[in-house]
Amino acid sequence: MYISKSFIPILKNNPSEAKIKSHQLMLRAGMIKQSSAGVYSWLPLGFKVMKKIEKIVRDEQNKIGVQEILMPTIQSSEIWKESGRYEDYGEEMLRIKDRQNREMLYGPTNEELVTDIFRSSIKSYKSLPQLLYHIQWKFRDEIRPRFGIMRCREFYMKDAYSFDISDEEAFFSYNKFFLSYLKTFKRLDLTAIPMAADTGPIGGNLSHEFIILAETGESKIFTDKRIFNLNTDDTKLEKNSLASMRNKYEQYYSVTDEKFDRKEFEEKVSVENRLITKGIEVGHIFYFGDKYSKSMNASVDLPGGKKDFVKMGSYGIGVSRLVGAIIEAKYDEKTEVMKWPISIAPYDIAIIPMINKNDITALEKSNKIFKELEKNDIEAIIDDTEENYSSKIKKMNLIGVPYQIIIGKKTDNDLLEFKEVGRESQKLKLIDIIKLISEQKVRN
Ligand code: ATP
Ligand code: MG
Repeated sequence: MYISKSFIPILKNNPSEAKIKSHQLMLRAGMIKQSSAGVYSWLPLGFKVMKKIEKIVRDEQNKIGVQEILMPTIQSSEIWKESGRYEDYGEEMLRIKDRQNREMLYGPTNEELVTDIFRSSIKSYKSLPQLLYHIQWKFRDEIRPRFGIMRCREFYMKDAYSFDISDEEAFFSYNKFFLSYLKTFKRLDLTAIPMAADTGPIGGNLSHEFIILAETGESKIFTDKRIFNLNTDDTKLEKNSLASMRNKYEQYYSVTDEKFDRKEFEEKVSVENRLITKGIEVGHIFYFGDKYSKSMNASVDLPGGKKDFVKMGSYGIGVSRLVGAIIEAKYDEKTEVMKWPISIAPYDIAIIPMINKNDITALEKSNKIFKELEKNDIEAIIDDTEENYSSKIKKMNLIGVPYQIIIGKKTDNDLLEFKEVGRESQKLKLIDIIKLISEQKVRN
């Protein structure tokens, strides 16, 4: 991609409405454009990043055996009346009437719809467990949309649902998602900590929020620092291994303010291990048993001939919120440098030729390099404008491409000036640059 041909509408200054760095950067780098309060269009750069996040989220869901479906954004009010949530959900739900005067709504979540799909087809315990997910736009008429796409009204979410025969089996499903979430966030280069959480309008009694640390986060968190040293490396996708993995995390006190109990915190966590800070919720998992299956009559035949309501859980990841959350975690406000993890960077590398009006050799060299990179599945962006060096570098630091090749008049064909953002530049052959980046991409 050439900058001159791209649709990346960069702003020179911080828009006054943006109060946190991710919102500022997304507007300045031309990633999104607000269309109405809490509703955004995704421009090429933002869309590319979001789609790469979505791909990783999808991949990790598939790995634990969840099946992908796609449910509509618009739902009928009937099923919500069955569960009793049509009234309970309140003003966050956007209610719509069609031309026949039927009550419809723009889905804020999908427990009812997926339960309806399940009950119409699955009748026997033999078909369990069923794990289903989709990645779809949601609408919640948030009272105070703010921080750009972090708390907006229309947002992109992965939501999964599990259906099991017993509590024991349902906890197995829950733990699969628990593991899958830790792996997903790790691939996004984030440390997301699972925290015991309240269940809110979704209902139920077992729930974890996955939170990344950030000063601008809206969740207040109280945690034992030792939780950061845990990993899931030796966890297998089987019952005991998963249960002991979750135990490992739950042994450390780690909650959001809704569940905070000072006495318990001070008893369980020594002074030097206490961490009280703020964070951003990027995922949330719930177990709520038969809350929906009972009210909506979703039951299966059991081995002995009896029937029982299925035990359900639901599992959300804020795919669009993650774009902002990753910026909060990675953007350095002091140096004004953003560096996307290679796994989701909009471009793998930037080629920055220093172009003089009458001399296009730098651009020609850049084109050759571009083609060579492309052959090796490395996506580059070339700044082919005639701006000066420092403004080109500033631009790339805003876009957040993790690697750069700088092409000057004196660049010979063999050794290139190569820079990993945030590190010293070095002279490397193109073949070694390709090797280095390809290795980084594989690792992710
Ligand atoms: P919050 O406490 O932030 O309102 P929630 O508990 O209402 O979140 P869930 O219903 O669990 O959210 O939704 C799953 C995920 O969807 C959340 O973890 C979050 O990442 C994302 N999400 C929820 N509300 C919004 C929103 N208004 N804008 C963007 N993303 C959101
Ligand atoms: Mg909410």
